[in-house]
Amino acid sequence: MRVILVIIDGIGDEYISQLGGTPLEYASKNFATLNRMADEGMCGIMHPVAPGIPPSSDIGHLSIFGYDIKKEYPGRGYFEALGVGIKLKEGEVAFRTNLATVNQKERHLIVIDRRAGRISGDHAAKLYEILNDAIKKEGLPAEIRHTLEHRGVLVLKGQELLGAVTDTDPHELGEPVLRAEPWQGLPEDMQKPAQKTAEIINRITELSYRVLDRSDINLERKKKNMPPANIILIRGGGIAKKIEPFSEKWGFRPAFVAAGALYKGVARALGMDEIHVEGATGTPTTNLEGKVEGCLKALDAGYDFVFLHIKAADNLSHDKKPREKAEFIMRIDKALRPLADLEDTLVVVTGDHSTSSIRGRHIGLPVPILFWAPKIRRDEVNIFNEISVASGALGVISGRDVMPLVLDITD
Ligand code: ZN
Ligand code: ZN
Repeated sequence: MRVILVIIDGIGDEYISQLGGTPLEYASKNFATLNRMADEGMCGIMHPVAPGIPPSSDIGHLSIFGYDIKKEYPGRGYFEALGVGIKLKEGEVAFRTNLATVNQKERHLIVIDRRAGRISGDHAAKLYEILNDAIKKEGLPAEIRHTLEHRGVLVLKGQELLGAVTDTDPHELGEPVLRAEPWQGLPEDMQKPAQKTAEIINRITELSYRVLDRSDINLERKKKNMPPANIILIRGGGIAKKIEPFSEKWGFRPAFVAAGALYKGVARALGMDEIHVEGATGTPTTNLEGKVEGCLKALDAGYDFVFLHIKAADNLSHDKKPREKAEFIMRIDKALRPLADLEDTLVVVTGDHSTSSIRGRHIGLPVPILFWAPKIRRDEVNIFNEISVASGALGVISGRDVMPLVLDITD
């Protein structure tokens, strides 16, 4: 038997009074495919990590793929780097960066825009280049690269480094840029590498303000009353380390269909092969039908495990747009139609966490999970949403229970 694992990012939500339920509950009134699969399959409630813990997406995914977060999680920066095609050597550390706008106030640099007015890609690319040249000139063991819009990836080279340092990004406006520090409570042998990493980060932060603030692009932006992109904020360190490949851990030949960099990074780190789909963007207008077709192609090509990631439900919840989220989920239901006709295939549909469209952030409530195969134990659930699945035959499971169940069901 083959497996398709569909992860709808941020699928769960809270009660939205205008919708009379969660966005998924609202959407499920119009489901054809997912309700049919629920009817012919087995449902349950899943805590991606543990009850009440709102995981970040990379942690939610790793947990569902059966990895031990406490021991095997390398930190987000590693996945982000892999996701944009930057290959790290073992022991190198990567961070996510933002071009941002700061105002100098005495000795502090106060953040007034964390994205520098969503600076255009061309300008951002040029500024990242300028900073990268300056880093080289200073002889710092690092490289910084532009990715999308205001975003980039910073790679620290060499050995004896660690991602376990605090962010320089205060994550709030009106607050000063922070100094990176080693995480509190690190074991003794990790303190020195974390200290070294923090020092390099702090030097690069200072350097970025020095060279970017007086760059031509920013002088021009100031003249036009646009926010200068005059610093980089650094967050989410991760170290390149070997993670047991998914194929060795579970005995499948895995492929993936995903558009977002983080998800590509996670899948690549686990040794899954990429199936490229034209028009897959990770946004609400993504090519959902193409992505489902990509899964079928992967099965035809001999892969026996396909991970399909669908992103935009999460973005719409972060943007506090529950109705748009419900509409997007209805589109997913339509697009998944071909999966419900597969033979010898187990289809699992779930999410990596719930995201609240009221609070605009991940929350620790569970997500629904559905196991469907032509021959599988059937329960009485025939609607797929957070509430209806609670009476399903799977009961309440945790993210790390998914792969053992998959192995058992596929014999
Ligand atoms: Zn997520
Ligand atoms: Zn999210």
